[in-house]
Amino acid sequence: MAEKLAAVKGMNDILPPDSARWEWLEEKVRSLMGRYAYRNIRTPILEHTQLFVRGIGEVTDIVEKEMYSFADRSDKYGDNDQLTLRPENTASLVRAVNEHNMLYEGGKRLYYMGPMFRRERPQRGRYRQFHQIGAEALGFAGAETDAELILLAVALWKEIGLTDWRLEINSLGQPEERARHRAELIAHLENHADLLDEEAQRRLHSNPLRILDTKNPAMKAVVESAPRLIDFLGSQSLAHFEALKAILDANSVPWSVNHRLVRGLDYYNLTVFEFVTDRLGAQGTICAGGRYDYLVEQIGGKPAPAVGWALGVERVLELIKEQGTVVPMPVPDAYAVIPDAAALPLVMKTLQALREAGVSVQMHAAATSAGMGSMKSQFKKADSSGARFALIFGQAELDAGQVAVKPLRDGKADAAQAQLLQPLDDISSWAQVLRSGS
Ligand code: ATP
Ligand code: MG
Repeated sequence: MAEKLAAVKGMNDILPPDSARWEWLEEKVRSLMGRYAYRNIRTPILEHTQLFVRGIGEVTDIVEKEMYSFADRSDKYGDNDQLTLRPENTASLVRAVNEHNMLYEGGKRLYYMGPMFRRERPQRGRYRQFHQIGAEALGFAGAETDAELILLAVALWKEIGLTDWRLEINSLGQPEERARHRAELIAHLENHADLLDEEAQRRLHSNPLRILDTKNPAMKAVVESAPRLIDFLGSQSLAHFEALKAILDANSVPWSVNHRLVRGLDYYNLTVFEFVTDRLGAQGTICAGGRYDYLVEQIGGKPAPAVGWALGVERVLELIKEQGTVVPMPVPDAYAVIPDAAALPLVMKTLQALREAGVSVQMHAAATSAGMGSMKSQFKKADSSGARFALIFGQAELDAGQVAVKPLRDGKADAAQAQLLQPLDDISSWAQVLRSGS
């Protein structure tokens, strides 16, 4: 045998039956987004590196060390372009909104789902290909849109039975307010220079706010005693924050202010928030977002306010599992037992009609070229498929224009549930029974 090849480190295969949990979540999201009138957007996974450098910020973990970037070939199709696998979707989304002039007629509410790529150290809840679902509203400046997005996330948690979360909020104010805070923050950090780790030393003048976001426990004290951004906000910024809180309160959404919540990306202003859980260890943030009123312009568009969030699909599904929430697993309604391969043309015609009538049918198929396999082994497969019914396409029944339908699950021993003969030429008369399982 040839040598086995493995997947790239930190990149996972999502296999059945686990993939059913992913589909289940995606269905819930699609349905919910529809109810909030958010529309789906799909952008390319590859973008020009420059988009992320400009959109995320040069002095961020992502751009400094996490991107998968490469030079495209230089040939008649391309010019040695520097490309990057998207590490997040907001920059791409804003690029698309600008490129297609989507805000021409007013605001847009959008959502996306898909893989993102970051070259981080793989561990529980942290992968190199991971998946995000995100919602973004562009062209709306008010706190009501921040609130709508948070309420949308809360509705999703409810919909999927997720209870172990708490909401942390903060306000980053506006750039000029941040600039005043920044000066005092740098002074504070310089006073405690001996306590700063290497990364903090490096960011002291390029991105000091990000130091507040540190995951290094040794810096806890210096960070906790740092000047708080909220104390530098003007009345307008504070009013925006208060308006958000009032809407959350009216909707009984519990929140707490985390003064050190600054978010990893550079482009946020005013509201920032995270949904966190204590049940996933260090990777406890399941959903994060905020307002980014300057990004559209930064990426070359006409200035437009915007706000959004992204959730980590792996983390959300892990939390669902951790909580013991039962996700329905798909099983076929029926399993087709086929004693003789000679019957296949007629059998498959019947199965097509059943599926058209909404019945899910798993067909027995030969594992080897020696034939269909014994009835015993076929029934074993029927049983382990989880189907509620076996359809037995015996020759005698087929000759009489019929198929035998045998319950495999509940009421197996019940005489009333015993094997029934059904007509092949009138599937609609009995397909309903298979579908509902009644
Ligand atoms: P963290 O602080 O955990 O690194 P982040 O601030 O880098 O998160 P965002 O860029 O805000 O994360 O992404 C939004 C969400 O996507 C996160 O809250 C998390 O749930 C998820 N996420 C981010 N990076 C990863 C990853 N490498 N693997 C799995 N999920 C991730
Ligand atoms: Mg990160």
